[in-house]
Order: sequence, then structure tokens, then C-alpha cells
Amino acid sequence: MTFTTRFAPSPTGPLHLGHAYSALLAHDMARQAGGRFLLRIDDLDQSRSRPEWEAQLKGDLAWLGLTWPEPCRRQSEHLPDYRAALERLSAKGLTYPCRCSRRDIASAASAPQEGAAHFGPDGLIYPGTCRGRAMSEAEPGDAIRLDIQKALGEGSLPGFTETGAAHAGQHLLTPDYLLTGIGDPVLARPHMGASYHLSVVVDDAAQGVTDVIRGEDLFTATFLHRFLQMLLELPVPRYHHHPLVRDEAGKRLAKRDDARAIARYRDDGLSPDAIRRKVGL
Ligand code: GLU
Repeated sequence: MTFTTRFAPSPTGPLHLGHAYSALLAHDMARQAGGRFLLRIDDLDQSRSRPEWEAQLKGDLAWLGLTWPEPCRRQSEHLPDYRAALERLSAKGLTYPCRCSRRDIASAASAPQEGAAHFGPDGLIYPGTCRGRAMSEAEPGDAIRLDIQKALGEGSLPGFTETGAAHAGQHLLTPDYLLTGIGDPVLARPHMGASYHLSVVVDDAAQGVTDVIRGEDLFTATFLHRFLQMLLELPVPRYHHHPLVRDEAGKRLAKRDDARAIARYRDDGLSPDAIRRKVGL
């Protein structure tokens, strides 16, 4: 199968050096493999996504020398795909509606009987307060979660191949890690249709992605993505998690970190090659 990778930014702010590194690395790896580089616009969060940011990020990527086939996939145009995936999991009885706010979760997770609070890919691990509620009891403002314990009954656990240097090799999913390191993840939110975790596996499969290249911060989420691929019988890409670009103090860059926005460097007269050197490519 043709090597196919993608860069999937959310149009919620300016792209910074960390995005430039991720996009350039994926683009270079695709070119070296004689493969395809796709751009995907992760705009499910319509409360924060803006067409202006999408236009700017495309301008920045083109300026860096990247090319991709148009039209690119835009998540907001594929809501029925995510709904179908969610319905498939619900039909197997693996989902439940959850009405907990962040604050409810924080106070339940810090209750004395819970012991030390544990963190997963989405922050505090969900303590399971709403587990056991039936989908028929869902109310309009509820999130939908996957019941990991139930889903473990769906088959033997698979693994995935990682090619990034920090975790290179085969990684097997274990019940213990899914239950205590991930916890019941949100699959859909009232204002977003699908969560990132559900949409990313649906999109990667729909786009024929063979190699996911993305930041190290998403390595642990990959165990959940692989689990969802198993439950939804989706094809499985290889994964390559790269180190994050950090500032001088060692902190990872954030969208609001305007000082390192690519647009800022462009305005200051830096060349795309200078950006490549800055990020170590
Ligand atoms: N939109 C996601 C992000 O920017 C994509 C992550 C991924 O590559 O899977 O974090």
C-alpha cells in the first residue's frame, strides 16, 4: 500500500514551530517513501474553529514548501461518518451517557476512597460515576462514553507498531492499561458530535492513512486509538511519534504562543529553510 500520511491541525489559532516540525517531517517522510502527504482540517470543535485560521494555516504550510491534494478533508463535513461509528459501538452496548462536568470528575476523583488521582490522555481518569446508565436515559447535554470494561469482552487485545525513536517497537494493549491508564473516554460531546479519539480513527481509515506521524504527547492516546480500531474493525496504520519542539525553558509550545507563530517568522523575513534549521530538520 502506498505510504500515506497526514498533518491534521485544528484551525483554532496560528501554527507555531511545533506544527511546522510535525508537518515538515511528515511531508519529508512521505516524499522519501514515494508516498502521499495529506492535509486534514480538524474542525470538529466549531466553537473554536475559524475559516480565517484555516486560510492562514494553509498559507503558512504552502510558504514552508508543502503541497497536498485539494480539496482536503474537513471534519465538519463528515459528521455522519462519526455518528455511524458511534452507533456501531452503542449497538454493541458499549456506550453510556455521561452528565458529569469537569468539576464533578475532579471532585469524584479526589474522594478519599479513590486513592491518588490518575491522569490519562484526556486529563483525570474518569471515575465511572455515570457508568451503568442506559443510552435510553441520555439527555440532550450528555457526553457519550465508551465502557472499557465491557468493550474488553469484544475480543483479544491487539498491538501496534511504533517507529518513532523514543518508543520504537511493538506495543501490546493490556486490560490493565486500558482500565487504569486510559479510563472510559468520551466518544461524543453535545457541541462537537465526535471526540478527537473517535474522529481520528474514522478519518485515518477513511483517508487510507498507513503512517500516522504526530507529536509524542499523543503516544499514550494511541493505545485507545488502537482499541477503537479493533472495536470498529478499521485498518491499522503504523505510528511515529516525534519529540515536541520546546521553548528555551523546556516548555512545549502552545497555540497561544504567538512569539513562535510561523506567520511571525515570515513577517520578520525568515526563510522556510531557516525554519527547517530552527526545528532541526
Ligand atoms: N488535530 C489534532 C491535533 O492537532 C491531530 C492530532 C493527530 O495527528 O492525531 O492535536
